[in-house]
Amino acid sequence: MKILAVNAGSSSLKFQLLNMPEETEITSGLVERIGYDNAVFVIKVNGQKVSKEQTILDHKVAVELVIKGLIENKIIDSLDEIKGVGHRVVQGGEIFKDSVVITDQVIKDIESLNDLAPLHNPANITGIKAFQAILPNVIQVAVFDTTFHQTMKEDAYLYSAPYEWYTKYGVRKYGFHGTSHQFVSQRAMELLDNPKAKIIVAHLGNGASLCAVDSGKSVDTSMGLTPLDGIPMGTRSGSIDPSVLMLVSQKENRSYADVLDDLNKRSGYLGVSGISNDSRDIVDNMNEGHKRATLAYKIQIKRIADFIGSYYVYMGGLDAICFTAGIGENAPIVRNDVIEAIKVLGAKIDPVENQKRGEHLISSKDSKIKVFVIPTNEEVMIAREVMRLNK
Ligand code: AMP
Repeated sequence: MKILAVNAGSSSLKFQLLNMPEETEITSGLVERIGYDNAVFVIKVNGQKVSKEQTILDHKVAVELVIKGLIENKIIDSLDEIKGVGHRVVQGGEIFKDSVVITDQVIKDIESLNDLAPLHNPANITGIKAFQAILPNVIQVAVFDTTFHQTMKEDAYLYSAPYEWYTKYGVRKYGFHGTSHQFVSQRAMELLDNPKAKIIVAHLGNGASLCAVDSGKSVDTSMGLTPLDGIPMGTRSGSIDPSVLMLVSQKENRSYADVLDDLNKRSGYLGVSGISNDSRDIVDNMNEGHKRATLAYKIQIKRIADFIGSYYVYMGGLDAICFTAGIGENAPIVRNDVIEAIKVLGAKIDPVENQKRGEHLISSKDSKIKVFVIPTNEEVMIAREVMRLNK
């Protein structure tokens, strides 16, 4: 059965067509710069990326193009072959404790959360509506980045701030990257053959978050009300004293929103190093002795270790740490240095295994905590949810 997994942003739309339940990719691609004259449509045909630049006015045109691309390239013979569409939706608030079949009411409920994710949820809705228009009789499912973390207890998700902010405005920790944390922790439980395992997933990409998973449930995570919170990332600061906003806005005569933009787009690796948001550039420069690149790197490692230590204590132990996403899957040096930073917990890396690629165990035999690399696959997780709800 063919299922489409879709991730719509404000000016982009990524898709993957999967064969289910085999969980194999048939094709994938993306449309970028939607709304512009120089939009690009990329689709994989026989494993090769084919791209075309053209004007793409809106998401509906983008979706039409995707469908046309699937048919013209003989990936499918007709629309009827697509049996379901799963949409990544960033913010499900406290309304969505599970993935859900999309109805008019679901769309209204997602829209009611726009204040909590003003850049993401409206774009996700645009993608959903575009697919509804073109595939009106096909089941559409919303899979939320936040749902997996809805199992956190109050002591983990509430900020120590005026309680009314929570009741009136929904100010609390929601957490993100939920589909990735769920996918990776499920796989780790399989590898450990232990459904009660205590696991930390380190999703380290351009956006990065950690998640503490106990018996398959998220019990804490590093991102908060928004994906700015937690560990430092490519361009995001991670957790920071909010008083910084006031000080910098006064000194530079700028609005809070403007300074917040610095924390989202000009901090993290980029802000500290002054060089790049890309971990490869940071590591290369660090190896050449660049002081601020080294500092950017070290700050991130320290903060990751801080979170791992706190989750270890909160869960009362730890069976496994799993590295995933762009950096977690591809940067042995980061994995090595994180494990080195938490060696007091008894975790040890096998330097030979750590250099290998793909899913594997990288801890040494005498490590008290298993350390895995598990490539994430959010699209498979989304397609699984479509299959589960398509009964
Ligand atoms: P993601 O957001 O998961 O796509 O991850 C993006 C991050 O992964 C960027 O910071 C990249 O530098 C990093 N990354 C991707 N490939 C590699 C690689 N081969 N070695 C080190 N880092 C990588």
